[in-house]
Amino acid sequence: MPVTLADFERSALPTLSEYATIPCLSPGFDPHWEETGHLRHAAELLAQWSQTALPSADVQIRQLPGLTPVLTVTLPARGAVAATTVLYGHLDKQPPLGDWSAGLSPYDPVRRGDRLYARGVADDGYAAFAAVLALAELEAAGAAHPRCVVLIEASEETGSSDLPAYLDALAPELGPIALLICLDDGGLSYDRLWVTSSLRGLVNVEVTVRVLDQGLHSGLASGIVPSSARILRQLLDRIEDSATGRVLPAQLHVTIPEDHRRRAADLASAFGDNLFDDFPVVPGLRLMGDSNAARLLAQTWEPALSLIGLGGAPTPDIAGNVLRPSTTAVLSMRLAPPTDPDDAAALLVHLLESDPPSGASVRARVTSTGAGWVAPPLAPWLDQALDAAARATYGAPPAWVGEGGSIPFLNALSVRYPGVQIVSTGVLGPGANAHGIDEMLDLPTVVRVINVVTALLEAAGTAATS
Ligand SMILES: [Zn+2]
Repeated sequence: MPVTLADFERSALPTLSEYATIPCLSPGFDPHWEETGHLRHAAELLAQWSQTALPSADVQIRQLPGLTPVLTVTLPARGAVAATTVLYGHLDKQPPLGDWSAGLSPYDPVRRGDRLYARGVADDGYAAFAAVLALAELEAAGAAHPRCVVLIEASEETGSSDLPAYLDALAPELGPIALLICLDDGGLSYDRLWVTSSLRGLVNVEVTVRVLDQGLHSGLASGIVPSSARILRQLLDRIEDSATGRVLPAQLHVTIPEDHRRRAADLASAFGDNLFDDFPVVPGLRLMGDSNAARLLAQTWEPALSLIGLGGAPTPDIAGNVLRPSTTAVLSMRLAPPTDPDDAAALLVHLLESDPPSGASVRARVTSTGAGWVAPPLAPWLDQALDAAARATYGAPPAWVGEGGSIPFLNALSVRYPGVQIVSTGVLGPGANAHGIDEMLDLPTVVRVINVVTALLEAAGTAATS
């Protein structure tokens, strides 16, 4: 029996709504997370709910010294299955970002129709509920399934900084992992099952340009002391073409595989002009790229630079005529999926720090890195199971799409467990606004994802035993 929206509303929605009220920011956004205890609180809430929803599971919160907690929900195999299936999600949240639209609020969930609005419900609070409900469904049906471990971490939005230590600690207990189902992803619409074909990597660098020990009257110093903002501009010109936004270093570009090019072209023709319609651009803004196929490839296979933070300047209302001593910028570089993030980080630091314009003091510091990922081909049984589950649930075959974002965990797991099968999917679609204001969870999509996961686990149980 497939799970219905009414089932989800009854069993999960009240606790998911309670989770939505917890400001459990990722450690990178809450340096005092250990004192505030929000992450721990969220983990305990999810643990309690999981144990009630799935009494036969072993539910544990692990916490290594100084690290954010990890929740595991382990369900023994039904049938003779050796390898483990891991169902992955995270409970840490992005900050609210800014003021939410009227009537909405980051920590006070609001339901409008079949959509729930609050920070972290779609990215990625729903995942624990979806994974556990899929397991509960298998248990209720008495269906064969592999040994399953739901793994919910709490540092994903900080580049999964704490996860490697847990993968080490849990390795003996996890044993060989045959299949990973990642529930932290999404696609271009809500009418089909989206499966991720690649992810970009990420490097963040904080760069500070310093020209003075203290500010000077701009009437005195301008025209004599080079401004730190102008020097920053010169440095950025080493990294990207300011006219086109193209990232300049050739090492950061890769040859895009033909099948990924073809999928982008197919998606662009299937979705026509609607592809980027939900971007809240101002009237008259011209998008980069000359076609939607090119934009899809730019979003998923090309490097791109964003300036995500600025320091060293007063807010506009109190700006005075001062030649400021320094400017700090936080640069976020998305990387082509196969690019090594550590190589890219070293290259960026070198480009920023070498031969400083006008002899200014320039310091660049790498604040985080995350590896991209290219999906390996699926085993035939999984390919068939995914196709059947998508058709049964959505009435359409699965659609593969590259993601512009990063989930460092997928690469980490592929490196640790060569040959592991990975299906990365989720609920994020148009208007989900993960990381933005007005984050939204489409409830019917959660239910469909649960039913797809249930079908995949059932297939994994039979595939391994037949
Ligand atoms: Zn996420």
